[in-house]
Amino acid sequence: MRLSRYFLPVLKETPSEAQIVSHRLMLRAGMIKQASAGIYSWLPLGYKVLRKIEQIVHEEQQRAGHIPMLMPTLQSADLWRESGRYDDYGQEMLRITDRHGRDMLYGPTNEELITDIVRSNVNSYKDLPLTLYHIQWKFRDEVRPRFGVMRGREFLMKDGYNFDLTKEDALHAYNRHLVSYLRTYERMGLQAIPMRADAGAIGGDYTHEFLVLADTGESEVFYDQEITDLKFGNRDIDYDDVAQCAGVLEEFTSRYARTDETHVEAEFEAQVPEAHRRSARGIEVGQIFYFGTKYSEAMGAKVQDADGNQVPVHMGSHGIGVSRLLGAIIEASHDEKGIIWPEGVTPFHVGILNMRQGDSATDAACHGIQLELEKRGLETLYDDREERAGAKFATMDLIGLPWRITVGPRGLEKNVVELTSRRTGESEEMSAEAAIDRLVQIYGAAS
Ligand code: ATP
Ligand code: MG
Repeated sequence: MRLSRYFLPVLKETPSEAQIVSHRLMLRAGMIKQASAGIYSWLPLGYKVLRKIEQIVHEEQQRAGHIPMLMPTLQSADLWRESGRYDDYGQEMLRITDRHGRDMLYGPTNEELITDIVRSNVNSYKDLPLTLYHIQWKFRDEVRPRFGVMRGREFLMKDGYNFDLTKEDALHAYNRHLVSYLRTYERMGLQAIPMRADAGAIGGDYTHEFLVLADTGESEVFYDQEITDLKFGNRDIDYDDVAQCAGVLEEFTSRYARTDETHVEAEFEAQVPEAHRRSARGIEVGQIFYFGTKYSEAMGAKVQDADGNQVPVHMGSHGIGVSRLLGAIIEASHDEKGIIWPEGVTPFHVGILNMRQGDSATDAACHGIQLELEKRGLETLYDDREERAGAKFATMDLIGLPWRITVGPRGLEKNVVELTSRRTGESEEMSAEAAIDRLVQIYGAAS
């Protein structure tokens, strides 16, 4: 993409309404524009990152054997009356009446709709286990939408639902989700720590929230410092292997890590030596939940078991805050100049910077580098504007592409360009061919 033909409305001034760095940077980098409180338009650069995050979520869900589908944003109130949540949900639910006077709502989540689909179509234990998911916009009429996409009213969520015959099977689905989430966040360059969360009215121990540590996080968390040394890495996982998934759960959840809702100071002190105790702030980027037969009983989602009995299915639901992740990634990865995208989610892989626009040799070299990189599967943003070098560097730093190739007439005389890492700021001179090879190698290894 040539920057002169792109739509990248960067802001010079720091927007006064943005309280936290990720919100400021998303506005300044022309990624989003507020449409109304807590509701945003995704401008091309923001939309590109959103799609990359979504793609990683899809790949990792499907790797775990979960099946993609799509449910609507608008739902009938009737299903929510069956589960009892139409009245329980309160003011966060946006209620709508259609022209025939029918009560509708903009879905804040989808347990009811998915349970209805499953009860209509699944009758036998032979149809289980089943895990369905979708990535769809949600609406929650938050009292205080703030921090940009972090706490929006309309936001994009991956929500998945498992249906199993027994509690044991459903717990394997729970573990499978935990494993797939660890892998998902790591691919985005994030460390998200599973922490014991509050199961509310349903009770039980089977819910974890995934938190990214950041000073601007809305949750207060307490954890054993050793947890931050755990890396999931590129492990070979067989998602059907019950013991292997349980082993990963054990490894990542046995140390003390809790949100303030489940924190008990006496237990913290008893379990964690003082030098390892940490309290900090965190951003919730996901949650997994096993809730047994709550919805299947209320809504009559039953299957016939091997003995011919009708039994309610065991369910869980599992969410990832897809749009919130943009904010969380920026909170975790930026400096005073702007965003630093992890390679896995960067909107473009490489920025190309022409230091003397209009000079036929540099123009031709930039164009050639762009063509070759694109041919080899990398997305480029070529700054071909008639601008000072300083302004071009500032824009590249702000939008945070991890790698930049700078092409100038002096370098070209020696047959070199400059390859610069956004994260370290280090530059190396090399031939254009060598820079291209290096980038292909870096991204090959990152995906
Ligand atoms: P919170 O406690 O932050 O209000 P929640 O626990 O109600 O969130 P879930 O129902 O667990 O949210 O939704 C799954 C994920 O969706 C959350 O982990 C979070 O990442 C994301 N999410 C929830 N509410 C919002 C919101 N208002 N804006 C953006 N993302 C959100
Ligand atoms: Mg939650």
